[in-house]
Amino acid sequence: MEANTPFRLDGKVALITGGASGIGECTSRAFAKAGAIVIVADIDTKKAEALSAQLPGSRAMQCDITSEQSVKHLFQQIPRLDILINNAGIGLVGGVTETEVSDFEKIFKVNVTGMFLVTKHAVPLLVESHGSMVNIGSVAGLIGVKKRFGYCASKGAVVAMTRQLAVDYPTEFRANCICPGTVDTPFVEGYLEKYHKHEKDKVRGELNQRQPIGRLGKPDEIAHMALYLSSQEASFVTGSVITIDGGWTAA
Ligand code: NAD
Repeated sequence: MEANTPFRLDGKVALITGGASGIGECTSRAFAKAGAIVIVADIDTKKAEALSAQLPGSRAMQCDITSEQSVKHLFQQIPRLDILINNAGIGLVGGVTETEVSDFEKIFKVNVTGMFLVTKHAVPLLVESHGSMVNIGSVAGLIGVKKRFGYCASKGAVVAMTRQLAVDYPTEFRANCICPGTVDTPFVEGYLEKYHKHEKDKVRGELNQRQPIGRLGKPDEIAHMALYLSSQEASFVTGSVITIDGGWTAA
C-alpha cells in the first residue's frame, strides 16, 4: 500500500456495534479492507463469528449494548481503541397514540441507553488514543417521519448525544453522526415482513419514491462515510451531523 493512499486505517483498532449485519457488516468489511483491526460486537454471536471468519485480523465479540455488565465485559477485553462505530439499533413503527410504553422504553434502551453505555466505557480509551467516534443516527432524528414517533425520538437523542460529546471533548477525540435515509438492509426487510407481508413490493416502491433519488441507499454508501470520518483525512471534522439520504431531507 502506498504511504499516501487516503482513507487508510492500518493498525487502528475499530469497535463496531451491531457489526454483524447491514450497515454494521459493510462497515466491518470496509474497515478491515482499509487495514483496521476490527472488533465485530453484536448480540448475534453466530453472525458476528461468521463475518469475522472472513475478515483477517478481526475478532467477533458477543455484546448486548443494553446491559452494562455485558458492555463492561466487552471493554475488559479491549485494552486499546482508536475507533468506535456506535451502529447497533432497532426500529419501531407507530404514531404517538399507537406506541406502547414498553415498546417506547425498549427502543430507547437500545438506541439511546445502549449508545450511552458503550460510549461511557469507550471514552477513556478514545481520549488516550485521540480517536474517533461515529454514531449512526437517521434522518428520523432530524425531520418528522410519519408513524415513527419512538424511532424519531430515539434518533433525535443520538444527534444530541453526538453534539454534546463533541463539545465536552473538542480536542481529545472526534465525534460525528451519520444520518442515513432508508438503506437496503435486513432492518428494512424485517420491517416489510412484519408490517407489510402481503404488499411488500408496493411498500418497497413507496420507500424508493420517498427519496428523490428514487431508490434505497446501499449499506456500502454509509460504510464509506464512516470510513472517511474515522480516517486521518477527516481530522478537522467533529460535531458534524451528515445526512446520506438520496435527497430526502433536501426535498
Ligand atoms: P440491521 O438490523 O441489519 O443490523 C443491526 C445489528 O444490530 C444487528 O446485527 C443486530 O443483531 C444488532 N443489535 C441489535 N440490538 C443489539 C443490542 N442490544 N446489542 C448489540 N447488538 C445489537 O440494521 P441496519 O439497517 O444495518 O441498521 C444499523 C443502524 O443504522 C441502526 O442504528 C439503524 O437505526 C440505523 N439506520 C438504518 C437505516 C435503514 O434504513 N436500514 C436508516 C437509518 C438509520
